[in-house]
Amino acid sequence: MKLIETVKLTKQYGAGLFALKDVNFTVERGEWIAVMGPSGSGKTTLINILGCMDSPTSGQAFVNGVDLGSLSEHEQTSFRREQIGLVFQQFHLIPYLSALENVMLAQYYHSMTDENEAREALKRVGLGARLSHLPSELSGGEQQRVCIARALINHPGIILADEPTGNLDEENEHIVMQLFRDLHREGHTIIMVTHDHAIGRMADRRVELHHGVFVDLSLTTHEAAEVFDEILEQMWLLAERQVEASAETLIVPDVVDSNSALVSMLELGMITAPSDAGLAGSISYTPKGEARARAIIRRHRLAEKLFFEKFDMNEQQADQNACQLEHILSNEVTDSVCAFLGHPNACPHNKPIPRGDCCP
Ligand code: ADP
Ligand code: MG
Repeated sequence: MKLIETVKLTKQYGAGLFALKDVNFTVERGEWIAVMGPSGSGKTTLINILGCMDSPTSGQAFVNGVDLGSLSEHEQTSFRREQIGLVFQQFHLIPYLSALENVMLAQYYHSMTDENEAREALKRVGLGARLSHLPSELSGGEQQRVCIARALINHPGIILADEPTGNLDEENEHIVMQLFRDLHREGHTIIMVTHDHAIGRMADRRVELHHGVFVDLSLTTHEAAEVFDEILEQMWLLAERQVEASAETLIVPDVVDSNSALVSMLELGMITAPSDAGLAGSISYTPKGEARARAIIRRHRLAEKLFFEKFDMNEQQADQNACQLEHILSNEVTDSVCAFLGHPNACPHNKPIPRGDCCP
């Protein structure tokens, strides 16, 4: 089980405005994720839902296996206090309390005030000499460090930070980011909203939101290629059933946001879509995409035929093994298999096998 998992998480305001739309997102324990994207794209909404400060219109968010939507208000509050450390762009410090008292106030919410521990937390963020200063007597960077000390006081496993360096100058940004690096190294899971690509690159993984739609920027080229192959293959199967391929009829593996996979495939010249409608209409192959799809289908069906006929597997076993082979068979081996099987016309399911260069 992932530490954090969202399933079709959606937050809608009014008829057409989606702050989040069908977001599928997972985070492993100990990961540092940067959430990027333009202003208004839903970043704060995502953080607020994960921190139980907001609830989705539909879909689910799981943290540590707990469906946040199933918690009562009281349980949400304890969840937040026990598991989450929050750091915001605005510092939300109480102006008439000292740095130490602000941190102790957070302890009070966790129903244990321990002045020594609060003092230690402030020392650890480099503020051991500023304990009795009021927020107005601290620089922006120092105030943010008080906030980090405050967020850490309950030893949360997860730190949610919404543009924590948004109000800081370069020097303070550096100090604060060093703190986050230390926290990451100690095993905290960090989800950090940022506009800054340099900060984004410090994270293990970057994701992006665009108008509430989620884009994973971190697939390896190998994973991406498998996702693209899978989609090209589905388009082939849909065409055989005479069903139009579109964002609705294609089922994109959920390692990646479906929209972003299709957008990448458009950009890479594998598919075309009616340009005025974006991805809304029917999707078709470019010649390059079709050639690739033909090759994958051919490899898959030849492999199936091979397993079924020569290795005595049943159809299901043959299909499963073919799914693996279709990604790794070279053209030469494929042609040899084709010749070995006598250039068959159809796979065991009686689907046509596309002709290859080797075929008579
Ligand atoms: P970001 O943090 O990426 O700038 P937000 O998550 O704050 O974006 O907002 C996403 C979208 O939801 C924006 O279009 C914003 O105007 C809208 N929105 C956020 N909160 C509300 C609200 N309470 N009522 C109506 N619209 C809202
Ligand atoms: Mg925001």
